[in-house]
Amino acid sequence: MGVGLYLHFPFCQQKCNYCDFNSYAGMEHLLPKYLSAIKQELFLYKVHVSVVNSIYIGGGTPSLLAINDITTLFDSIRRNFYVADRAEVTMEVNPGSCTLEKLKVIKMNGVNRLSIGLQSFNNESLKKLGRIHTVEDFIRTYQYARQAGFDNINVDVIYGLPWQTGEEWQDTLAGVVELDPAHISLYSLTIEEGTPFGRELKAGKIKKIDEDLEAEMYENAVKLLKANGYEHYEISNFAKPGKRCLHNQIYWRNEEYVGIGAGATSYMGRVRYTNVKEIPLYIEKVFGNDYATAEKEALKLDKIIGETIMLNLRLLDGFRMDDLTKRFKTNIDQLYGPTIKVLSNQGLLKEEAGMLKLTDHGLMIANQVFQRFV
Ligand code: SF4
Repeated sequence: MGVGLYLHFPFCQQKCNYCDFNSYAGMEHLLPKYLSAIKQELFLYKVHVSVVNSIYIGGGTPSLLAINDITTLFDSIRRNFYVADRAEVTMEVNPGSCTLEKLKVIKMNGVNRLSIGLQSFNNESLKKLGRIHTVEDFIRTYQYARQAGFDNINVDVIYGLPWQTGEEWQDTLAGVVELDPAHISLYSLTIEEGTPFGRELKAGKIKKIDEDLEAEMYENAVKLLKANGYEHYEISNFAKPGKRCLHNQIYWRNEEYVGIGAGATSYMGRVRYTNVKEIPLYIEKVFGNDYATAEKEALKLDKIIGETIMLNLRLLDGFRMDDLTKRFKTNIDQLYGPTIKVLSNQGLLKEEAGMLKLTDHGLMIANQVFQRFV
């Protein structure tokens, strides 16, 4: 059985005000060494992986990679692993960091899915978020992507901004839908400590959005996207028929994946490995001919099953208990049957045609449901 391959590219032109991802601005001088380290880590994992079913190059801002580096990176992936013929290959792209020429090279290297971070169709909001691009930059990048031949494009948008009104959110969704991308991912803003927004919140300069308004934004987005032909297949993800993200479904099914790069996580053989986060330390470890692992967690079977149920419930189609029983060769009912019964009686879970899934009410308070499995 194959795995998903994730490559983390933690460089950004500037840090967005809400971002607590493992990404850094002003570290470009380390880029050549980082790329060599990535290639070395790919080589280290060669013995553990036979087939790669999907590739996801994320960040950070992978579209900051120079044209030559994009080609050598994909050469290195293909030299070390057998990439399945129909593998989904995604690369994240930031508007303002990608020319038409670069997008053509990305396509030539076998990338068949792009994920573009737009966040908002409002320039004032983009500025407050600390994004490096405008709406016009996004539209240009999107059109370049189409010209380069990409028909499978995801657009990321964010809601729940402290200053955002329901109308502004509707405008963002309408603007995206108008462009007809194959996939749309919604993110609700979480204000994290240590970010500029976190500090502003602490200082009372911004306030969290009203919870009811945020819930209304989500419900309205679901309605609007469904009405425009998108399948709501995961809590925050919407796709045109046949365009569901295969790579992310590996995570939601709790299947095996390899994560390469600073801070990346791998999950193989019921063990979760997380790499060191800092770029210099990552480079040092890998050049020392070592795995860059900072944490290694061997997961107990009941924990894996709980996490697998929780992750599968993110998928609106749900899952078959029988499939998990076969996969884990254990009686799932004995472990989680009582919890599932309680949640079903509370109207949060339901079984339909043998699939266990969230109800509409369960979907609105999904995090509370998930807590019962972890
Ligand atoms: S571009 Fe993405 S990864 Fe980089 S700082 Fe902004 S949100 Fe974070």
